[in-house]
Formats: sequence, structure tokens, C-alpha cells
Amino acid sequence: MNLNLEQPQDKRFVVDFWVTGKCDMECPFCYGADVPIKENQALVYHPTDETKMIAGSDKRRPEMSFEQTKDVILKLKNVGVDTLTFSGGEPLLRNETPSIIEFAHKHSMQIYLSTNGTYLLSKYSRIKNFISVLGLPLDGSNPEINIAMGRKAYHFKNIKNILEFFYNHPPNHILKVGTIVSKVNLDDIEAIGKFLFETVSFYSPDVWRLYQFESLKDGLATSDKYAVTDDEFLSVCDIVKKKFPINNISERSRSTHSNSYFFVTPDGMLQTVSDKHTSIADLLLTDENELKNIVEQQHSTVIKRASQNRNWLNSKNTNKTIP
Ligand code: SF4
Repeated sequence: MNLNLEQPQDKRFVVDFWVTGKCDMECPFCYGADVPIKENQALVYHPTDETKMIAGSDKRRPEMSFEQTKDVILKLKNVGVDTLTFSGGEPLLRNETPSIIEFAHKHSMQIYLSTNGTYLLSKYSRIKNFISVLGLPLDGSNPEINIAMGRKAYHFKNIKNILEFFYNHPPNHILKVGTIVSKVNLDDIEAIGKFLFETVSFYSPDVWRLYQFESLKDGLATSDKYAVTDDEFLSVCDIVKKKFPINNISERSRSTHSNSYFFVTPDGMLQTVSDKHTSIADLLLTDENELKNIVEQQHSTVIKRASQNRNWLNSKNTNKTIP
């Protein structure tokens, strides 16, 4: 088990690191990283321009190189970040991601990996010893509802294969399944619980996290189709918490998202999020002292709330026995 439970999860300094904007899926509610442009394109950008647009175009600058990514990880570590959640886009679409994960692990960072699962089994042996938490999405108890939610047709089968794989090869890290609760799958949430916790040949996730649909970025255009009220969301969370025999089912409502996360974009901007993502520092250009001042002095609430958002990782809430 790579999870150091000596250090309370709610005291951690967690940053979500989008290593790439590329993804094999096109979920209509995605608020992950944008797809970067080709790496050899000539760039002109202004360091204080939060959108990081290339002058005269609507394209962002490309994702950081491997060397730049390592420098940024060390910079984050030196200002106190101890936990990185790697996501994207789909992080495992980037060939260097296993090496990035290994590098961060070697520098004593705790690693959470948030993946859509498409490439997981082919890369798992390379990363399994470096991650503490693996997060997978599942938005329906059958292929049709996953597709209606906007996932690709192959997604449901991939997740099934992964749960069967872990049943036969129990992971040494925490497995979290995340479900976006929306108007489309509201009546299916209980069935997802049955699928996860009552299928004999599946490894049951250690954590099930329910997310209230959020209209940000792409989700703004699909809000009418997906949005659920706070009451609808909390009531379905209540039902499944009572119904299923694990003590680690938790919810993240829309209201607890705001100012609760730091993101690093593929091109190296540190961002916070409220009703939109806002860049607060260019990690390639900001020195450590300045960065420390920005995060600790100006955004201490985000550090605290980002930690609290991982309360579901506290040892008393996980089913894992730590060797
Ligand atoms: S799998 Fe994740 S990153 Fe990819 S499109 Fe869907 S929500 Fe966005």
C-alpha cells in the first residue's frame, strides 16, 4: 500500500495535475484540460494572459515537455505540495505519464491517478507500485446509460474488465469509482451500486464518490439535459449510503466544488476554479518564493478545501488494511 496514512489526508496539500488535454472520449460535460496544439508550432503568448492564447489564434500553447513537467513537480513539492492527482484529458494517453508518475513518487509525492480506464490494463504493471489511489468513472449500470451520459460505447465493458481484473489481482492501492449524478442517470444510481457491490466476480471499489453534475466549460451547453437539483442529488446519495455495505460512499455537491481545487494545466498554468477556471500563476515562469506567496497568502482557503475534499481517504473510511 503506497498510501501513507500516518499523514492525515485532511492535512495534505493536493494539486490536480492535467498532464495532457488529449482524450479518447468526448464527454459532453467535460471540464478537463483543453486539447493542446502541436508541439512544434511557433508560440507567442503573454505570461499574465490567463487564457494563454497564442497571439492571433484560438489555440493554447502545447503541453509542457517531460523536462518542464519534472521541473514543475519539483517546484510544487518545494512549496509544500505533497499529493498530486494526475488527470487530463486522459492521462494514460500521454506516453510519458508512467515516467512522470514514477518521478513524482521518487520525490516522495503521493499519487492519485484519475483515468477513464481505456488504457489502464495495458499500462497498469508500469504504474501500479507508484500510485496510492486509482479513480475510474462509471455513470451507469449498463452500456446504454453510460452512452446516454455521453461516454463512448466501449467504456462500460472496459470498466467491467478492470473490476474483474482487480478481483483476480487485488490492488495494493485504493480503488475509487466516481459517478456523475445527472438527470440522465438519476434513476440508475441504486442499480450502479448493485453492479459495483453485488457482482460476485468484481472487486468492489474501496470508495464510491458521487458528483453532482456541474455546468462548467462544455457542461454549460448541456446543463438542461443533465442538471439535477440539490435535493434530488442529496436524496439519491442518502438512499445508496443506507443501502450498500461500505462506509465509504460520499458525495460532492456543486456548492463544494467552488474554490476547492488547484489545477495545473498541460501548459503549466496553476488555476483555481469557481464558476470558471482562473489562472493564478505560470509555473514555468514563477519562482518558488513568489509561488509560495501566491498559494499560501492568497489562496490558503483553496489549500484547506482541497484537503477537505479528500476526507474520503481518511483511514477510518477505507476498507484497506495497511501493512
Ligand atoms: S473521459 Fe474525462 S477528460 Fe475525457 S472527455 Fe470525458 S470527462 Fe473529459
